[in-house]
Amino acid sequence: MTNQDCLICKNQVTKWSGLVVYEDPLWLVRHSNETNILGYFIIEPKRHFLDLAEATAAESAAYGSLLAKVMKGIHSIVDCQRIYTFSLAEAVPHFHVHVIPRTESLPRNYRGRGIMSYPTQPSAAQALIEQTCERMSLALRRLF
Ligand SMILES: [Zn+2]
Repeated sequence: MTNQDCLICKNQVTKWSGLVVYEDPLWLVRHSNETNILGYFIIEPKRHFLDLAEATAAESAAYGSLLAKVMKGIHSIVDCQRIYTFSLAEAVPHFHVHVIPRTESLPRNYRGRGIMSYPTQPSAAQALIEQTCERMSLALRRLF
């Protein structure tokens, strides 16, 4: 079920313009274009719901395995010390999880909870995002 007023539902129809690295009947994984952090992915359900309390048993069961594979994929393409995950759903009330690699080069003030104040502009160059998506797609294909 989709919601016509939802930005995430609308963008799933257009496949996020080449940002999608994995999808199955329940879930979709795409690269974020909101910052210049390469390897910053977003996991979102195909169905419109606010949080996992509204997920079906099948969606919940698939989610844990998918999150683990996305993290393995990120570790295989980005040299990072941590992978941050969080969901807020304030701007767009469609469940989505931010999965963000924290590299050695990330300034201290953006580490931990500081990641929330990381600048959303400029975004990474399109060519770099596409290259990252290709590498992640290959990594995920090996994991599924
Ligand atoms: Zn939606």
